[in-house]
Amino acid sequence: MASRPDYSQILGVGKNACDEEIKKAYRKLARQYHPDRNPGDEKAEARFKEISAAYDTLGDPEKRKQYDRGAGPFGGAGPANPFGGGGGGFDTSGFGDILSDLFGRATGGSGGGRGPTREQPGRDVETEVRLSFDQAIEGAQVPLQVATSQPCPTCRGTGAKPGTAPKVCPVCHGRGIESEGQGLFSISQPCSLCHGQGTVIEDPCPTCHGSGAVRTLKKYRVNIPAGVRDGSRVRLAGKGEPGRNSGQPGDLYVITRVTESPIFRRRGDNVEVEVPLTIPEAIRGAEVEVPTLGGRKKLRVPPGTKHGTVQRLRGEGPPRLSPGSRPPRGDIHYRFVIDVPASLSEEQSEAVDKLSEVMNGNPRARLFT
Ligand SMILES: [Zn+2]
Ligand SMILES: [Zn+2]
Repeated sequence: MASRPDYSQILGVGKNACDEEIKKAYRKLARQYHPDRNPGDEKAEARFKEISAAYDTLGDPEKRKQYDRGAGPFGGAGPANPFGGGGGGFDTSGFGDILSDLFGRATGGSGGGRGPTREQPGRDVETEVRLSFDQAIEGAQVPLQVATSQPCPTCRGTGAKPGTAPKVCPVCHGRGIESEGQGLFSISQPCSLCHGQGTVIEDPCPTCHGSGAVRTLKKYRVNIPAGVRDGSRVRLAGKGEPGRNSGQPGDLYVITRVTESPIFRRRGDNVEVEVPLTIPEAIRGAEVEVPTLGGRKKLRVPPGTKHGTVQRLRGEGPPRLSPGSRPPRGDIHYRFVIDVPASLSEEQSEAVDKLSEVMNGNPRARLFT
């Protein structure tokens, strides 16, 4: 035990300092030398380790007794030595219980995410909106009502009856966590009484019954961009549930439900239309009128067009959603289908007989060669 570090001196307290003084000294120094406050400063980090080790011993009555007897962590083989047992990196996560209130809010640092002052982001909210096919293609502004929770107007979100205030939780003393064991390396869990809030409400607010939040219907007019599909998600930043303790609000996601068109079928970035052709049109070719998303167009059907042939009209399909897409719109695919009549007039029947006579080759012959 050649050089036992002088922990009292490191923390700047007297040999007989009480627990409260030690804790106060440690908190002050930890705040000053915390790696989050001194990024890249090796001296500060070394000093932080030193004061942490000092507090680890002096802050724990058992270890302090040992230390005072001369069997400090460098002398004894106690498992308490934070730097014993190899291991390179220095992990501050074990200090969460004491550092959370130091660093939880002020720096957003790694001091642990617990404690009553910790910001809590609001939850995201999802809702659906019905659109016609045309609205989905052209974009639309649609009214929307969303049920979200808002801070209670009676108690302003505290949950306490007006005129009263939430009390600091008597079990965890406001830290929101209960620790098993003492000192820095203890196991912590959310407080069983206040469930991590750090406060308890003795007189609950009559409006929200202590929850601090009320359900309200929020009305929005949502701009649905042109080109959405069934199941597209439109994000409205910050329109979700409010956060707690100045946390960011969540987002509102509007899922589009698009009514199918009887004519246009969505196929990825494109739409498809079935265009029936009579048998003579398919054989001889024709100029046919077809619907587009903005009106009508004439299409040239070449002679000998087979059933199922697709002709593309480029760049006249639905707008593409991602900004700056090239080309900005998809295509319209016209799929030609030969319209075979289910029943024939006498005249048509004779014509088909005639056709059978003159087109008497067997197109299936090649299947059997
Ligand atoms: Zn508590
Ligand atoms: Zn209330």
